[in-house]
Amino acid sequence: MHRFTIYSGLLLCAALAGCQTAKQSAPDTTIKTSSIVAPEGKQTVADGDAATPAARGASKHNLAGRTLTISSIHELRLQDKEVVLSFDDGPIPGRTDRVLATLDQFGVKGAFMMVGEMAELHPALARKVALDGNAIGSHTYKHQDLATLSFDAAMAEVTRGEAAVTKATGVDVNFFRFPYLADTRKLRAAVAMREMVVMDVDVDSKDYFNTSPAAVTKRTMDLLHKRGRGIILMHDIHNRTATMLPTLLSKLEAEGYKVVTLKFRKPAAPAEVASL
Ligand SMILES: [Zn+2]
Repeated sequence: MHRFTIYSGLLLCAALAGCQTAKQSAPDTTIKTSSIVAPEGKQTVADGDAATPAARGASKHNLAGRTLTISSIHELRLQDKEVVLSFDDGPIPGRTDRVLATLDQFGVKGAFMMVGEMAELHPALARKVALDGNAIGSHTYKHQDLATLSFDAAMAEVTRGEAAVTKATGVDVNFFRFPYLADTRKLRAAVAMREMVVMDVDVDSKDYFNTSPAAVTKRTMDLLHKRGRGIILMHDIHNRTATMLPTLLSKLEAEGYKVVTLKFRKPAAPAEVASL
C-alpha cells in the first residue's frame, strides 16, 4: 500500500511508468480493439456534425473533425482517416499543460482518462482539462489491475475513481479506460451500467517505452497507416508525449487525418426505448 504525500504525484507517475513497463512485452495482438469499422458511406452515428471554421476557433490548422455523440463504444464508428486522441494516467502539472496547449494550438480536443488520485492531487489542472472542452474519463482511483481483484473490490476502485475525477473536474465522468486494458466481460458491463463509455484502444503509441519522441511518433503513424483510423492511446504524464505531440499532430494534418471530438449522450432508459 502506497502512502501518498503532497509530492506523491511524481511518485505515482514513476510507479505507473514502472507498471506499464512491466506490460510492454505484451504483443500488439493483446490490444483490445473497438468495433469501429463502419460500412463505407453508411454512417449511423447520431451526431456527425462537421467541424466548421467557427467550431475550430482561431486555430489556423485544419485538423478538427466531426463531433461524435455516443452512449457506448459500439457507437464510436470512425471513418477512414479519423482518429480519437486519448490520454491516460494524468493529470500532472507541466506535462498535461503542454498537451493542452498543443491541442489548443491545433484546434482539436482529446479524451483524458484521469487516475482519481492524480485528479485529487491536481484539481485545478483537472478542471482546466474539462473547461477546455475535452472528454473526461476515469482510469480508476489508484490505477490497479482490476482483473486481479474481486468483482466488488474492482468496482470499489471504479466508483472511487469516478467520484474523485467528478469532484476535481466539476463535470460528469462519461468515459472509462481499464488500467493495462485488463478488463472482464462482467466488469465492462458494470462500468457501462454506470453510464461510462468503456474506451478501447486501436493504436497504442507505446509512449511509456523509454524511447525518443521521434520513435513514438513513427510507431504511431506506422500503426495508423495499417489501420487507417482509430483510437490512439497516449499518456499525458510523460515528457516524451508532450514533446512529440506537435509533430504527431502536424503529420496527421499533413496526411489528411481528422481528430474526432467525443461527447456523451445519456442512454435512453428502457421505458423510453419501449415507448419509441
Ligand atoms: Zn494507465
